Amino acid sequence: MSFVPPESSQPVSDWLSGLRLDQYCPAFQEAGLGTLWECQDLSSAQLQRMGVALPGHRKRILGSLRKLLPSEAGMEEDEEREEDRPVARERTKFRASLIYQHRWVKLDAEYLRYFDTEKDVYSKRIIPTVSITGVVNVGEQKFEVVTHNRTFLFRAECDSERSEWVTVLKSCVRATSLDVTFNPCVSYEMRGYLELRGLRSKLYTVVCADKVFLYKNAEEYRLGIGITSIDMNVGNVKEVDRRAFDLTTPYRIFSFVADTDQLKDQWVEAMRNSIAEALSNYEVAERIWAEPSNQMCADCSAAKPEWAAINLAVVFCKRCAGEHRGLGPSISKVRSLKMDKKVWTEDLIQLFLALGNERANQFWAANVPPSEALTLNSSSEERRRFITAKYREGKYRRYHPLFGNQRELNNALCINVQSSDVCETLALVFCGAEVSCDTGDPELASPIALAQHHGQNLQVEFLTQNRNTEVKVSIDRVHYMAPPSVTHNGFLFKTASMARPITEKKGKEEFSRRWCVLNDGNFSYYESDKNATPNGGLKMKEIVCLAVNPPETHGYDHTFELYSDAERLYLFGTDNPETMREWVKSIAKSFIPAAAEDLLLKDFERIGRLRYKDRLNREMSRLGWFCLVGSSLHIRLEEHTTDETIDLQKLLELSIQPENEVLVLVERGRTLYIEGERKLDFQGWAAAIQRAAGSTGDTLSQQQLTEADIPVIVERCIHFTTQYGLTSEGIYRKSGVNSKIAALLEEFRRDARCVWLKEGEHQVDDVSNVLKRFFRDIEEGLFGQAADSWLSATEESSRICQYRLLFSNLPRVNQATLRALVNHLYCVQRFADLNQMTLHNLAIVFGPTLFQADGQDYSAGRVIEDLIQHYVTIFDVNEQQLQKQLDEITYIIKLRDNLTPKAGTGSGDFICTVYLEEKKETAEQHVKIPATMTAAELTFEILDRRKITVKEKDYWCCFEVNEKEELERPLHCQEKVLPIFHSLGTDSHLLVKKHFSMEAMLVYLASKVEVSKHGMMKFREERSLLGLSTGSFNDRYFILTSTSLRLYKEIRVRVSLFLPLPLPLQSNRPEREWPVKCLKVYQGIKRKLRPPTCWGLTVFYENEKQEKQERQYLCCDTQNEMREWFATFMSIQSGGRVWPAEWLKSRAANHSVPLDARFGNVSLIPLRGSENEMRNSVAAFTADPLAVSLISQSQPGSANHTANHTALCSQTQ
Ligand SMILES: [Zn+2]
Repeated sequence: MSFVPPESSQPVSDWLSGLRLDQYCPAFQEAGLGTLWECQDLSSAQLQRMGVALPGHRKRILGSLRKLLPSEAGMEEDEEREEDRPVARERTKFRASLIYQHRWVKLDAEYLRYFDTEKDVYSKRIIPTVSITGVVNVGEQKFEVVTHNRTFLFRAECDSERSEWVTVLKSCVRATSLDVTFNPCVSYEMRGYLELRGLRSKLYTVVCADKVFLYKNAEEYRLGIGITSIDMNVGNVKEVDRRAFDLTTPYRIFSFVADTDQLKDQWVEAMRNSIAEALSNYEVAERIWAEPSNQMCADCSAAKPEWAAINLAVVFCKRCAGEHRGLGPSISKVRSLKMDKKVWTEDLIQLFLALGNERANQFWAANVPPSEALTLNSSSEERRRFITAKYREGKYRRYHPLFGNQRELNNALCINVQSSDVCETLALVFCGAEVSCDTGDPELASPIALAQHHGQNLQVEFLTQNRNTEVKVSIDRVHYMAPPSVTHNGFLFKTASMARPITEKKGKEEFSRRWCVLNDGNFSYYESDKNATPNGGLKMKEIVCLAVNPPETHGYDHTFELYSDAERLYLFGTDNPETMREWVKSIAKSFIPAAAEDLLLKDFERIGRLRYKDRLNREMSRLGWFCLVGSSLHIRLEEHTTDETIDLQKLLELSIQPENEVLVLVERGRTLYIEGERKLDFQGWAAAIQRAAGSTGDTLSQQQLTEADIPVIVERCIHFTTQYGLTSEGIYRKSGVNSKIAALLEEFRRDARCVWLKEGEHQVDDVSNVLKRFFRDIEEGLFGQAADSWLSATEESSRICQYRLLFSNLPRVNQATLRALVNHLYCVQRFADLNQMTLHNLAIVFGPTLFQADGQDYSAGRVIEDLIQHYVTIFDVNEQQLQKQLDEITYIIKLRDNLTPKAGTGSGDFICTVYLEEKKETAEQHVKIPATMTAAELTFEILDRRKITVKEKDYWCCFEVNEKEELERPLHCQEKVLPIFHSLGTDSHLLVKKHFSMEAMLVYLASKVEVSKHGMMKFREERSLLGLSTGSFNDRYFILTSTSLRLYKEIRVRVSLFLPLPLPLQSNRPEREWPVKCLKVYQGIKRKLRPPTCWGLTVFYENEKQEKQERQYLCCDTQNEMREWFATFMSIQSGGRVWPAEWLKSRAANHSVPLDARFGNVSLIPLRGSENEMRNSVAAFTADPLAVSLISQSQPGSANHTANHTALCSQTQ
C-alpha cells in the first residue's frame, strides 16, 4: 500500500503558482489534474503532451513532485541505520503499486503501522487506532485515515483491497471509540528528548509501561503519532559511558545519549523498570498458558498467543486479535495478556483455566469444516471471515439442545449458574440465554445474583463479562447441521408436495418423473436432466424427517416421504428398490448430523429430529435424533455419545396428549415426552410409534409384551380366568360366542395394552377361547421350531429331562409364556372338583392348540399332560410359593362363593389406603369407601379404628396430600371421598390429621360480617400441564367475593370511608376472573417455583366443561394472611359451614352406625407393575363390581388375611 503525505491534497493551481508556472494551470485542469496527489503519475512525455514544451519547466514540475510526494513524515532518513535482521513477519495486507512509496502496512488491535519492508520490526510510523476518528474513501483505490489532527492518505492496489482496508479500519474506529486502554499517551514513566546515535535530531522518547515509544518531537507525542514502539520484554539496557546507554533488542541496538549524567541514570532506571514490567506482564500470560490448550491460538493455532477475548474465554494470537477487535466489544472483548494487567483478576484467570481454548472451542468450533479452518499462514481476509463466522455468526458452535427456546434457555441458565459448570453456561449464553433474564426470584433477580448467592465466582465472572454481549440467535440450521457434502442424482417420481399426511394410496398417474439432484446440502428436482432451472427443491437443513413407506404403499413400489420444517410433505417413488435405497441413504446422510450417524447404519423406516423431555428433564425439552426400526425407537441426544433404545412393544403406556401434542411413552423406570414441535412430522411419528408399539407381527415375540416377556394378551387372559373362571365348569372346553371372541382378539391385536378385561363385560368362556385361539394362530407356535422334538420325547424315563433341555433352548419369550401358561393350567386342574377340568381334560384341549395340531393322536396332549403334571420339576418351581398361590386362589374362590348371591350390593364401593397423621407403612389403613362416604365419616372411621378419642378443639380432618406438588388441602367434612380418591394422582394420598389452623380460621371467619377478601398477593401462573411455568411472582391485587376471584394488575385507589382496603375503581376491569366454584385451593406451592414466601396457595381452575385447566400460585406475606384467604375460600365454597358444629353432635349420635367394612391391613388394590399400570388397574377396578363386592363381604376384623393382588398376579410370572 502506498502512503501519501498530507501535502498531496494541495490544489494544483497553488502548487504551480508556487513554482511560478501558473501558465500551465488550464492545461492541468484540462487533463483532470486538480490536486498534487493526482499529478503523481506524471511523466515527462505526458507533460509534453499536455503542452509543457520546455524541458526546464518539465524538470521543475517533476522535481517538485518527487520532492513533495515521496517524502512522508521525514523519518526515512532517521531510520536508515536500523539493523535489519531477518525475522519472520506477518504477511502484508497487500503490496502497493510501484509508483508510490511502498510501505508495509500493518494494522492490529492497537496500532496502524507502516514499515519500510515486510521484514522490519520497527516501524516508520505508528498511529494508535484509538486516535483514528474516521476512514474515508477518496477516489479510486484511495482512502484517508483521519486522526484527531492529521489525515493520512493511502492508496491500495485495487478497489477490493481498498474497501477491505476501509472496512477493517472503520471497524477499528467503532471498536476503539468505546475503549481507550491502548492510548500510550495516558500514562508514562519518563519522557523527554534523547539523542539516538546516527540521527541528526533528537527524538522525543517516552517510556510507557512495558514499551518505549519514539516520537519525532514533543508535538507529535501530543498528537499521539509516533515513529515506532519498542517492546521492552525483549529489551536490555546497557550503560555505555557517561551519558550514553544502549537499549538492546534482538533486532536492533538503540544507542541513546542523554543530555546529562543524571538524566541518563533516570532513563536507564525508567527503561529497566519498563523491562521489569514487561516481564512481569508475562506473569499473566504464563498463568493462562498453564492450561495447555491456551498455549495455542484458539483460531489459528499460532504458538504463545498473547491476546484474549475475556467474554468469549478464548486466547488468541496478535493477528487474530486484530480480527477480534474488528468484531467490536459487543462480540469480543479483546484484552492483552501482557498489557491489560488490571483486567486479569484472579477470577478471570481461573475462568480461563476452567474454560480455556479447548473447552471453549468444543463449543465455538464444534463444526468447523476443514476447508474453513485457519492455519498459521491464513491471510487476514481468511482470518476475518473465519473469526466473524465463528464468533459473530456462531456458525461453528455446538448448538444447545434448547436453542431457539428462549424461555427454557433462560430457565436452564438460572439453574446452571448455581453449579460450577461454566462450560454449560457458555453454551447457554452463546446460544441465546439472556445473561440478565428474570430468575423469578425477586431477591436473586438475575443469574449473576443467583451465581453470587451460590458462591459460583467463575459463573459471576463469566456472566459479568458477557452482560452486554450480542449473541446471534436467529436460527441458521445450515450451521447447525454441518451437513456432509453428499452428492447424488437420478430420476425419481414425485407427487405435488402436501401440507397434510398422506392417507390414501397414490396411483402412478399422480407421480411425475423428475431429475433429482442432491448436492451441497440442497435437494432439487428438475423437469429433466437437460434442464438447468430446478422446478423446486428443499434444503437439507429444512428436512426434519425422512420416512420410508412399506413397499407397495403407493403406485410406485418403493416410496419415501420427506418432511420439511415448513410443514410440507414430499412423496417420492421408484420401482427400483436399489434406487430407493441409494436415495434414502444419501438424503439421511445429508441431514443427520455426524454425531448421530450411528442411526444411519440402521435399517430405519423413519428418521428425524424431535424435541423431547423425560422425567429427569421435565423443565427443558431437548433435541433428539430419533430413528424407528421395527419396534425399537433409537434416540441420540446431541451431547450423548451413544444411542438409547426404547422397546416400544414393552411400553407400559403410550398415549397422545392432544392439546399439547405430546406423545407420552412410559416404560419401566422412565417416561418420555415427545413434543410436537411441528404438526405434520409429529403426526407421522405418533402414528408410526403407535403402530410399532402394537403387535408387529404374528410370532410370539412380535406381540406387545409385559416386562416378564409374556405377551400382554396371554397375561390378561390368564389373569381374568384365574379370577373369574376357576370355578366355571368346563372352562377352556366350552366354546364361547364366536363373534365376541373374534372381536376381542381383534381388540388385543390392535393394542393389547388398552384392553382391560372386566367381569360383566367379558365372559369367561370368551376370554378362555381368546387365549386358545391366540396360541393356535400364533406363527411358529409356542414351542417354536423344536415342536417336533417335544412331541417325539417318548421315552418315559428320560422325558422330563428332555423337556427341561428343550425348555432351556426355547427363545426367551416362549419360555416365559410357556411357564406362565403351564402354571395357570396347573392351578386350573387343582380346582378340577369345581371346574371339572382334570389334567387329562386340559391336555386334550391344549395339546392340539399349543402344537397347532389336528388332535388326531394324543402325542401333543401327552406333552401338555406331562408339563402340567411335572410342572414343579420341569420349571424348577418353588413349592412353597406354589402352595401360597393356591391358597390365595382358594381364598378368592371362597370369597366369590360367599358373595355371589349378594353380588352388586357393594357396587360403587372402593377400597383405598388412608394414612393416619403421616404417610408411612404402619400408619396405613385400608378402608372401604362407599360412594356416599364423606370426609368426616372417613375421618371418624380411621379414628375409631385406632381408638383415638376426639378432644374438644381437636379439628381432625381428612387431607388430600400431593407430595410431588408439595401441597395439601383439607377436605370439607361433607365432601364425598370417593371422587377425590379417584382423582388422586399416584403421588397423592389421603391423610387424616389434625387441622391446626382451623381454630384460627374459625375465629377469623366469626369476626367477618360478609365473607369476602381483598388484598395484594404475589401471583404466578402456570397454564401448561408439562410443568412449563410462565413468568415469575408479581404483585397483583385480588378480590374474592362469594362468586368470583378477580385479579387486577393495577389498582387505582378509591379511598372509602367504609372499606379498610383500597378498592379498584368500578371502571377498572379485572385482568382475570375465575368463578369460585371452579377453583380448588391447596395450601402450599412447590418449592421449585421459588415462591417468595412460604405462605402460598396453589389454585387449580377447571372450567365446567373440564376442557380448560389452569393453575395459579398465590403467595402471601404472612401465615395469617394466607389463613384468612384460605378461610375465605373455604367459607365461600362451603356456604359458610366450614366446620359445622352440628356434625360433631350428629356424629356422636351415629357413632354406633357401622361404617360397613373394616379390613385392617388387607389390601386388595392391585399393587403390581408401574405407577401407570396401577393407575389403569385402579381405573379398571372402579367399574368392576366384583372386585369391590368381593371385599365388602370379607369378615370384619380379619386382619390376618394375606390375600392381595400382588399374589393374585404372581401366578403368571
Ligand atoms: Zn491466531
